[in-house]
Amino acid sequence: ARADITYFGAGPAALPTDVLEAAAQALIDYKDTGLGIAEHSHRSALAETIINEAKADLASYLDIPAGDYETVVMQGGGTGEFSASVYNLVGAWVARQHAAIVKELGGEGAADEAAVVAALRARVETGLKLDYLVTGSWSLKAYQEAVRLLGPEYVNLAADSRTINDGQFGKIPDPSTWKLSKDAAMVYYCDNETVDGVEFPEFPAVLAPGADGTGPLVVADMSSNILSRRIPVANYALLFFGAQKNLGSTGVAVAIIRKTLLPPAISQPSPALMRKLGLPIPPIVLQYEIIAKNNSLYNTLSIFDVYIAGLVLKKLLQTYPDKVDGQQAVADKKAKLIYAALDAHPDVYRVVPDKTARSRMNICFRVTKNGNVDEAEKAFLKEATSQNLIGLKGHRSVGGIRASNYNSIPVAGAEKLARFIEAFAKA
Ligand code: PMP
Repeated sequence: ARADITYFGAGPAALPTDVLEAAAQALIDYKDTGLGIAEHSHRSALAETIINEAKADLASYLDIPAGDYETVVMQGGGTGEFSASVYNLVGAWVARQHAAIVKELGGEGAADEAAVVAALRARVETGLKLDYLVTGSWSLKAYQEAVRLLGPEYVNLAADSRTINDGQFGKIPDPSTWKLSKDAAMVYYCDNETVDGVEFPEFPAVLAPGADGTGPLVVADMSSNILSRRIPVANYALLFFGAQKNLGSTGVAVAIIRKTLLPPAISQPSPALMRKLGLPIPPIVLQYEIIAKNNSLYNTLSIFDVYIAGLVLKKLLQTYPDKVDGQQAVADKKAKLIYAALDAHPDVYRVVPDKTARSRMNICFRVTKNGNVDEAEKAFLKEATSQNLIGLKGHRSVGGIRASNYNSIPVAGAEKLARFIEAFAKA
């Protein structure tokens, strides 16, 4: 039965049972309207209230600087954001260069259109760069998508963990070795690598804004660790996450965008100009300014999924008066419990990532007991399942064991897993 099970799946992840009970009721009859939440129009006042409350609660929980950021809900998952970030940040880079060139050539009206395009083309050729820090399979996928959309000439592999770790992920290269471009359209990284169990211990200081307040345009994928620790939101141009791990149900993704990347500060260049430059324009559902202008309702949004996310946020705000700091303390405590049990038996378990980059959310390890890893891991999974500890199989691309320690895992669940890890080692 549900109440007996602790589910360590990597995503979709478990959701709090009381949230699902409320959502199940809302699916049939939302607030005595006679219609379920998935049947009501996304244009209705109640849908708008659900979106606005979820946005406000997210802003409160994460301390998103008021007025400086726009939050949008989108539908292409984390993968859609790999593409959206490329299109929109390249567009913003071109818009900035365009404005600078027009100014250099005498200003709006005076500047000759053909000369502007020629200068812009030259600048694209020499200066357009997207920097990627590849520290695991998801940042690798994002990097590959940038190469696919733009061509390799515009994409800079600024760091690759595999070059310092025998071809495997598991470490984060020292920031002093990162090859960052000058005036990059963005610097992209994945804060927590779900498959490889690698998490940035903190915001990389080399990417922080300088004393004058300006710095690189940092973009981060926080799909698998959002809402689990405090983040310096003001350091990011863009951060995004799919809902299906710490926020809610599969089907929506959230992007938090610095307003200086949106109108009225900046507008995406016209499709005609981008064609002249040989650069792609986003499909309209991936264009942030369109989604932002329409409060995430440019097209039909799954209000049910936003509703679930909203319930999770309300529960978090009720549970933790000190907001995300409260959840962070619990997440850290659970991760420590599980890693301590693993570290206590180095003859039986090998934690995959380096100690300096261990994820608090996805705990990846091998079971080396008796030398036969395959057999030992099969036995580990079988016995864990018999004790209602499920979802522990590692990602198919890397194998091994992965315990996803998301917010919905209670401390008691982490304790139960730690006890099992101990007992299995001793048996
Ligand atoms: N980024 C990270 C860190 C992920 O863990 C995942 C999915 N597990 C994705 C991106 C891709 O998300 P989606 O499946 O929603 O496209």
